[in-house]
Amino acid sequence: MTLFLISLLITFLSVTVSAQTGTRVPTPPDDITKWTNKTIMWFGPHQDDESSSLGTLSLLKANGNKIIMVWYTTGNKGSRDLEMTSERLAQIRKTESEKACGEMGITPENSTFICLGYDDGMLEYVPQKELCEQVCRLIRKYRPDAVISMDPGSSSMKWHKTDHRMSAFLTLDAARAAAYHLYFPNQRIVDGLQPFTVTDYLFYSTSESNYDVDITSVSAKKIRSRAWYVSQFGEGNFKYVGPEPDKEKLKKLLDVNAEKISKNEKINEKFRRVTESMSF
Ligand SMILES: [Zn+2]
Repeated sequence: MTLFLISLLITFLSVTVSAQTGTRVPTPPDDITKWTNKTIMWFGPHQDDESSSLGTLSLLKANGNKIIMVWYTTGNKGSRDLEMTSERLAQIRKTESEKACGEMGITPENSTFICLGYDDGMLEYVPQKELCEQVCRLIRKYRPDAVISMDPGSSSMKWHKTDHRMSAFLTLDAARAAAYHLYFPNQRIVDGLQPFTVTDYLFYSTSESNYDVDITSVSAKKIRSRAWYVSQFGEGNFKYVGPEPDKEKLKKLLDVNAEKISKNEKINEKFRRVTESMSF
């Protein structure tokens, strides 16, 4: 009995000490490229934002994980070509994105592609509750082992591009809502969607990266994939010249990449990874 009381006291003291110091022992994140049979949800505002995660997504897909891609907007404003119309641009960007994802082994047939259909650049003017409810529903439905999203960290406050900032905050807000049954309760009552807590986040477009994914093995594929965004990267943004990528430019980029690999350089995608629930 005395021993029991002593052990109880030791436990109490150790908890108190840790509560006083406020220290937490973080568990090192596991290697996401070793994951199998998990569900990964990617969120982003535009049909090119996925590019910075496609190496990682490609490795995850090849390992038999389920990939859900969610775009907030149609990307229908991102051109400086005076001949371009919003309707045409939305169609071009959808195709570019599908080609780029396809190059990495992720297709609408073998994965889930969702576009919420909002206008490019206007995400901040959509009622936030409406957005939060939609994304909360998706998270509760697909119950992802990891969410990949634009970084809502301190750099987003400085980043003046409306959709990027909005999608970063919104994804996180919706993930928080998904954890509590009293947020949007009809999703549970009417549709049977149970609360779900996301516990692994990988934030891209970050200036505070703490987690590198080695994508060297798919880096050539990624270069071919990036070449599909003809309306976005390079002069095609000023005068659309697609849909076919510039083969000469592509060859040069592939040569540079091959040289890097021959020198044993690693090609990484960088994320800020948070492996705990942020739903508090
Ligand atoms: Zn974007």
